[in-house]
Amino acid sequence: MARKKIIQKGDPILSKTSHPVTNFDSKLHTLLNDMKDTLRHIGGAGLAAVQIGILRRVVVVIDDQDEFVELVNPELVETSEEQQDGLEGCLSIAGMYGFVTRPMEATVRAQDRNGNFFTVSGKGIVARCFCHELEHLDGHLFDEHADRLYTEKQLDDLLENAEKDS
Ligand SMILES: [Zn+2]
Repeated sequence: MARKKIIQKGDPILSKTSHPVTNFDSKLHTLLNDMKDTLRHIGGAGLAAVQIGILRRVVVVIDDQDEFVELVNPELVETSEEQQDGLEGCLSIAGMYGFVTRPMEATVRAQDRNGNFFTVSGKGIVARCFCHELEHLDGHLFDEHADRLYTEKQLDDLLENAEKDS
């Protein structure tokens, strides 16, 4: 396993569409292992292969049991309800956060590392993460949905003021 560098916004690769995986071989397994190693090391909630420079439809998400979910060729098949204005960040937009509306629940159909199809559902943060990571595969970043981005400091001030107001 190897930790990879996360590509940052501004690099044109992040706007590209990732290609479907057709070979479920050791190269894919190495990619998934490297992505998990990188994600654990950095402490993020999800990672798409394009973020380490690989244009393949591969995503790794950490679920609410703190377990890895490996998604190969994932498709969003069902979403329900909205969760308003959840705070979101991205390893490729380091240090910046924004409020984004996402579904409360999301169901994804994907293949595992051996090519077997399965469906997985997530709620709350996990649903948010599924939606966020799948968008990376089509060249989109979360800041497209956010009115503005905040630094950690700005966010602290904002939340502090919100507390005072309430
Ligand atoms: Zn991201």
